[in-house]
Amino acid sequence: MKTDIEISQAVELKPIVQIAEKIGLAADDLELYGKYKAKVGYETIQKLNSRNDGKLILVTAINPTPAGEGKSTVTIGLADALNQLDCQTMIALREPSLGPVMGVKGGATGGGYAQVLPMEDINLHFTGDMHAITTANNALSAFIDNHIHQGNTLNIDSRRVIWKRVVDLNDRALRQVIVGLGGPVQGVPREDGFDITVASEIMAILCLATDIDNLKARLGNIVIGYTYDRKPVTVSQLGVQGAMALLLKDALKPNLVQTIEGTPAFVHGGPFANIAHGCNSVLATQSALKLADYVVTEAGFGADLGAEKFLDIKVPHLSKAPDAIVIVATIRALKMHGGLAKDALANEDTEALKRGFSNLKQHIENMQQYNIPVIVAINQFVSDTEAEFDVLTQLCQELNVTVRRANVWGEGGKGGLDLAKAVVEAIKQQPSNYQRLYQDSQSIEEKTQAIVEKIYHGKKVNFSAKAKAQLKTFEQYGWQHLPVCMAKTQYSFSDDATKLGAPKDFEVTIREFVPKLGAGFIVALTGDVMTMPGLPKTPAGLNMDVTSDGQAVGLF
Ligand code: ADP
Repeated sequence: MKTDIEISQAVELKPIVQIAEKIGLAADDLELYGKYKAKVGYETIQKLNSRNDGKLILVTAINPTPAGEGKSTVTIGLADALNQLDCQTMIALREPSLGPVMGVKGGATGGGYAQVLPMEDINLHFTGDMHAITTANNALSAFIDNHIHQGNTLNIDSRRVIWKRVVDLNDRALRQVIVGLGGPVQGVPREDGFDITVASEIMAILCLATDIDNLKARLGNIVIGYTYDRKPVTVSQLGVQGAMALLLKDALKPNLVQTIEGTPAFVHGGPFANIAHGCNSVLATQSALKLADYVVTEAGFGADLGAEKFLDIKVPHLSKAPDAIVIVATIRALKMHGGLAKDALANEDTEALKRGFSNLKQHIENMQQYNIPVIVAINQFVSDTEAEFDVLTQLCQELNVTVRRANVWGEGGKGGLDLAKAVVEAIKQQPSNYQRLYQDSQSIEEKTQAIVEKIYHGKKVNFSAKAKAQLKTFEQYGWQHLPVCMAKTQYSFSDDATKLGAPKDFEVTIREFVPKLGAGFIVALTGDVMTMPGLPKTPAGLNMDVTSDGQAVGLF
């Protein structure tokens, strides 16, 4: 069987100018990054404003397991299938982070015959957005340390600087560091730490900003820490939002690429869904809605994280909510949720499947709360049996939810035609009537409770002493109207990664809140979730190489 990279390298790519024509964009609308990648400029994006919106399809999934779900693969294959049905469709996906690429995953550009290309470029340095985000973030760190060193007129308490440095790698050794060592000329020593770039507030800001002015305003609102008398200090007080926006001016423009079948795809912005808000950029999704009749987009990890944040944090910044939600599940992963060990997944086991269905069921019911049509896509693996497929179909039908098998990994768009027809039908039959989970006017405590009770189905939320004290001060600062962005393990509905299926009677503990005033939300840290991952014992990077003529090897 061919690997993802072998399949992708055998494809003859079309010039990106030709792909752009499919969505009505001319060469002048593009800023080319070689032959096969382009950014779309601000002038073009502005011109689109007056157009009508297409239909928006959100692809999400059950809680991930090591068995794999294939959300990006289904997103890409579904879009290819819609185009085969003559529905003019484009994709809006996230950019991969080098942390997981080098660590566990290998890539984030889909798989098999449902991939976005050129996969090496997209998975590695692409158009430099990650570099720009990392640099803007670290420029702010340098400005902060310099301000303290040069006399600290803002009275910043160096023990209470909350702004961290970032790097787009999994590097646990950098989680906690001390900067400024070496004597008076090297700055003022203080504790600092690194997050992964995709967990940074700059990434969230880039993904939520609607234009350059909005980007600059958001950057100015970032709270970097507190003064000795506990007042928040913002970037606008430091006066560096202009410099930071300048560093991000090109990164904010959506990147256009193509699928194996030539479907146009925006791949732009890439926050993680477990420690950040998990959706691609508003600018890319919004532009895609103006350029195509159907837009397929994806939110990270399971629907308890990515989709909840898409619906409660991102949608208020879009001109419309999704018209349909596709929940991706695999028979293998559901069997793992039902207690089957990873090495036994190839065996038929309808009992484990029935037990593990509890996970999918809860995601279906959760998504239905938003009043948007829900469709289940079974991402087909070669080990699936007909008996298992029949059981899963029956279980979905008992919930009155449409379910379709998709083999886009093996067949590309052709393997997703049934799913695509069902999605188009669902959109026609049942109008979406989006309802948010909570209101801005509710307190941060109430919003957190709403997510834990209505999405995770936990019994109770506990707030640590620190979190309680923060809630009080945030109220004084007038931040309680902001939405809550949960930082939680992706593997379980609970804050304990080992509780699979649909755990009941658990409590969720909020360890700490982190204000992200530029992004416009408050992050709630649960359990021991880390904003800087580590590498596994055998990192994916060990399989990677490059040939003497510059071809990538082993990138999944
Ligand atoms: P997610 O978006 O859920 O993280 P991806 O779509 O990135 O998952 O897929 C993860 C990996 O699983 C990819 O390498 C892909 O090739 C593989 N994969 C996805 N679907 C299938 C399938 N149906 N059969 C075999 N491998 C698959």
